[in-house]
Amino acid sequence: MAKKQFKAESKRLLDLMINSIYTNKEIFLREIISNASDAIDKLCYLSLTDDSVGLNRSDFGIDILVDKNARTLTVRDNGIGMSMKEAEQNLGVIAKSGSFQFKGEMDGEKAENEDLSIIGQFGVGFYSAFMVSDEVTVISRKFGETEAVRWNSKGADGYTVSACEKESVGTDVIMHIKEDTEDEIYGTYLEVWKIKALVKKYSDYVRWPIRMDIEHQERFETGEKNDDGSPKYEYRMVTENETVNSMIPIWQRSKSEVKDEDCIAWYREKNRDRKDPCALVRISAEGAVSYKAMLFVPGEQNENIYTGDNKGGITLYSNGVMIMEKCDKLVHDYFGFVKGVVDSPDLSLNISRELLQHDRQLRIIGQNLEKRIKSELEKMMRDDRPKYEEFYKNFGVDLKCGVCDEYGRYKDFLKDLLIFWTGEDKRVTLKEYVEAMPESQKAIYYASADTLKRAISLPQCEEVRSRGFELLYLTSPLDEMVLDNLREQDGKRFVNVVTDDLGFETEEEKKAAEERDIENRELLDFVKESVGESVAKVKLSNKLASRPCALTTEGGVTLEMERYFRYGPSEEMRNVRATRVLELNPEHRAFSVLREAFANDKEKAAKLSQILNVLAELAAGVEVEDPTVFVDQVAELF
Ligand code: ADP
Repeated sequence: MAKKQFKAESKRLLDLMINSIYTNKEIFLREIISNASDAIDKLCYLSLTDDSVGLNRSDFGIDILVDKNARTLTVRDNGIGMSMKEAEQNLGVIAKSGSFQFKGEMDGEKAENEDLSIIGQFGVGFYSAFMVSDEVTVISRKFGETEAVRWNSKGADGYTVSACEKESVGTDVIMHIKEDTEDEIYGTYLEVWKIKALVKKYSDYVRWPIRMDIEHQERFETGEKNDDGSPKYEYRMVTENETVNSMIPIWQRSKSEVKDEDCIAWYREKNRDRKDPCALVRISAEGAVSYKAMLFVPGEQNENIYTGDNKGGITLYSNGVMIMEKCDKLVHDYFGFVKGVVDSPDLSLNISRELLQHDRQLRIIGQNLEKRIKSELEKMMRDDRPKYEEFYKNFGVDLKCGVCDEYGRYKDFLKDLLIFWTGEDKRVTLKEYVEAMPESQKAIYYASADTLKRAISLPQCEEVRSRGFELLYLTSPLDEMVLDNLREQDGKRFVNVVTDDLGFETEEEKKAAEERDIENRELLDFVKESVGESVAKVKLSNKLASRPCALTTEGGVTLEMERYFRYGPSEEMRNVRATRVLELNPEHRAFSVLREAFANDKEKAAKLSQILNVLAELAAGVEVEDPTVFVDQVAELF
């Protein structure tokens, strides 16, 4: 029989597959089963109008046969089948559907890898059989014909077709599984448990039954009796033909058919999650893009104890066939914790093979999903604040990162979902904060430290609170970056109580302060000199109320950021330092003592300056460089 050549581009793809550049080999089964399912769809559709088909809906199905001795895996369907001409046309030419563009750009190994990984996500079709087989035989009889066709290929060097006999209409795809190699145990594709697992994973919701012979142990009565008269049992292996797939996806069914609790139970089982999800979104969309979606916000951010996997991710299906697990293109990272499924028939027909278009559809779906997730979270925030706070504890950091991502591109979308501490056990949104502001308050004040307690007790907060204003207490540098990105809320700017001018002073007060600075210039210069390089500046401050001194910063880098960067990955990051300013409270007794010493005993004044600096460092949570010196200095005062 004359061997025919594959079309050039098919040969190219085949070469790539056979040479196993593509690593996710197991998807071949999904591809072959999808084809079988499509073929059944076609014949079933025909049977509605053509009695000669002679089959009812319940007669259709896909059988998987494993023959370990012959090393073959067969996928058999009773679908529409192929004529000889069709077999040649369909199986001899890849890219009929325009899926692959193996042109000049495919040259070079990098391009091959990249392209193939994309293909792998969307389906590679019939040829994927060659990833695991060294020979594929297709025996098919088309509906309405008496003669069948036998198509055979051992890979890239070509294929043969010939006429043959086949009793019933439909197609057998017989894959001769490759011998094991050092890197790959192809033999697993001849294990029933493996095939069953692959069907479950990729083809669970194919709407036709997928059947297999499965062996299991059965207990039977031997007919003999035990001493106590009870029947004796023994075990034997029996083979039963089982339907492996569950067929009806839960998300395809309407809300009246399937209750939310059922979806939640499904989620917990599927994700092996110990906790109920804190939110569920069910969508059935018709229109420009039709799809069904079932999304979950996990109840905790626990690492899955079984799989070690704690990532979210949305699995993409097309008509019940899994296209992609954890599709990361669907929603942005800030909602990356969302788990669930999206199923759209629009993705399979042509789009799954047309990458560009595909992207557009996915984008539309993704945008809709994001809107729905957001509104669900807003609802939770409105109706059940404690639950929302729990959610925020788990995933707030994702939202905050989202605000800072891509130069604040998503900040407007996300900002209403943020909450901030305003007290020991109170959190508010920025909107709520602004709404509660008294008329006289012009800005949003915030204080930042590494713990909530420390932020609340920063000396600079007292002045703000004494005016009856609330503060936002930030507990991470990320919080500061979030506010940096947001810049303002409802026209009110953010003011860092430690570094920024609070704007409380009247013109007169400012003038008085300036005069006071001039008056004390000599003393302040002396303090700076005594303290050394650790601070850039020493000044007087009105913000300190009852505290003698405080450490603040100038410029963009705060003490919090410095702390954060200290453990950064690069030397440059670790060397980031805030510009420190030592502020002294001129109203405090400590200042009078210092001034007196400055006039009478310079040595003592220098020590007091150093002590004040360390006190300021301690209050700000900064590591003290040499604690023993400090201890000695304080001890000397007694
Ligand atoms: P695609 O499914 O994207 O068209 P494939 O390479 O998987 O690409 O299949 C090529 C064609 O071969 C199919 O479109 C179909 O016409 C035909 N085909 C494949 N498998 C079967 C089958 N089991 N029964 C009938 N036709 C099939």
